Amino acid sequence: MPVKDPHSYADLSQGLIKHIDFEISVDFETRILAIRAEYILVEPVSGAFYLDTRDLDIERVYSGDTELEWTLSESNENLGQRLQLQNLEKIQGFTIDLRTSPAAEALQWMTPQQTLGGEHPFLYSQCQAISARSIFPCQDTPAVRFTYAASVTVSKPLTAMMAAEAVGSQQDENANTFQFKMPQPIPSYLFALVVGNLAFQEMGPRTGVYAEPEQLEAAAYEFAENEEKLVEAEKLFGPYKWDRYDLLILPPSFPYGGMENPRLTFLTPMSIRGNRLHTDIVSHELAHAWTGNLVTNATWEHAWLNEGWTTYAEKRISEVLYGQDHIQITNYIARVSMFDVMEHVITDPKFTCLRTHLEGVSPDEGFTLVSYTKGYTFLALVEQAVGREAFDVFIQKYINAFAFQSLTTEEFIDFMRAELPSVFDLVNVQEWLYEPGFPESAPEIQSRQVDEVEAVSDNYRQDTLPTKEIVKDWDWLQKLIFLRTLPATISIEDCRYFEDLFALDEDTYPPLLREFYKVCIRSGYEQIYPQVKALFSATGRLAVIMPVFRTMLATEWTQALARPLFEEMREGYHPHTVAVFERFLKDAGM
Ligand SMILES: [Zn+2]
Repeated sequence: MPVKDPHSYADLSQGLIKHIDFEISVDFETRILAIRAEYILVEPVSGAFYLDTRDLDIERVYSGDTELEWTLSESNENLGQRLQLQNLEKIQGFTIDLRTSPAAEALQWMTPQQTLGGEHPFLYSQCQAISARSIFPCQDTPAVRFTYAASVTVSKPLTAMMAAEAVGSQQDENANTFQFKMPQPIPSYLFALVVGNLAFQEMGPRTGVYAEPEQLEAAAYEFAENEEKLVEAEKLFGPYKWDRYDLLILPPSFPYGGMENPRLTFLTPMSIRGNRLHTDIVSHELAHAWTGNLVTNATWEHAWLNEGWTTYAEKRISEVLYGQDHIQITNYIARVSMFDVMEHVITDPKFTCLRTHLEGVSPDEGFTLVSYTKGYTFLALVEQAVGREAFDVFIQKYINAFAFQSLTTEEFIDFMRAELPSVFDLVNVQEWLYEPGFPESAPEIQSRQVDEVEAVSDNYRQDTLPTKEIVKDWDWLQKLIFLRTLPATISIEDCRYFEDLFALDEDTYPPLLREFYKVCIRSGYEQIYPQVKALFSATGRLAVIMPVFRTMLATEWTQALARPLFEEMREGYHPHTVAVFERFLKDAGM
């Protein structure tokens, strides 16, 4: 019995998509993709066949010379529209001609001015969680996997790339056409396309980076450790199954740190600082090649299986490269951030469970730091309970057993019961997976660096300002923790003092600025506002801008500024980011 996915109209008992051949024509003038998609099913289908769509202009559905009957349902806010093919008679393949909407949820169309080079337009897709349906009709659930091939035509001199193997290209007078194939079956959310002025640089035998030419060299320097990370990840998980591991550096408006598109991780440019200090995010996206892309959550109600496992793997890779201190301090920050989300963002305690129930709710609402940090902590606790050696054996068995499949939390528990039964005597699995909040049995964080910051923070609360001498050796994580542990409001003089102490008028690393601006806003330091605005135009990364925006909505003097700020920025943001802003504004009654 296939699981029911609350975020898909697909009925898997009707049949399954096996392969899709795409012909995609990209038009920057109209901001439309014209697509011919030829579907091959696992077995012939009779009767009805449901597909997920959102805002698609379906032109024709046919099989060979035969037109097929189809209807589109009313649009549902969370799900989009159901495309129903009907009266099928033993059909194993069909073709759909369609056009995407200029407002397609998955696609961000950018003007040349929004790129680094400033000369060519740029397009990228972001399909997780359920936006693939705004590009092509699909069984848009992570439980269905298909292979694909694609031919993508773009105007000269642009380049198209996909999260797939590039197998060839042709040029004619006006256009470039690129061919791709994806021989490993993927769930729809891992479909990914990018078009722009892109250059490539190799970093290792299996690793390289695509970026706008202006940023290529800096990116190749920053992520030079990728090949080493790949080797470490293979020690943990077994062989890498996706052939190449390349990065694509996106424009700053990308809503996330990274997106684990197979073979080609999409990455924020924020990590490129010339110091290789902010590349944990790559360890994370790389680890998804096993946990997420290879072994996949059956629905977004089990997202912790993707994100908790991947965070665990990220930490194991980082432990080898950067040591235990780094793990402890980043754990501390992750926990504090999760508590903040549990307290201030999640409106219903049921979304603090690892296994969620999301019927009637957008997957984004259930998809929070909880699945990452609580999921990771659970797995770290299991490791601690059974010992690393036994857990490492379990990890490889797990990956092998579910490779190229999807599973639910319940299937995971069954597998753990069979392979690692002692866990159930040592860890309260039920509480960790099914109950809200953060269990007290979580391993304690021990960090000399955190203790040092907390001592300085305590002194400040007793009216002793830290001196330059005291903080001179602090790394950015310690500065971030200090700013986070400040009282909710401080004096404007102290805002200025900390701005100077940490040289925050010169430091441009957005996560650090985020923490500082939150304090400044709450404290009424109005002179900071131009810099706050500058942060919103410098990055579209949700994890950076939303906490600042939430603080603005909750603070009296900035409330009225929130809507105008968003309106000024929205043109430069991804449609998904725009939707998140709208949701927060709506919830705040604005
Ligand atoms: Zn992830």
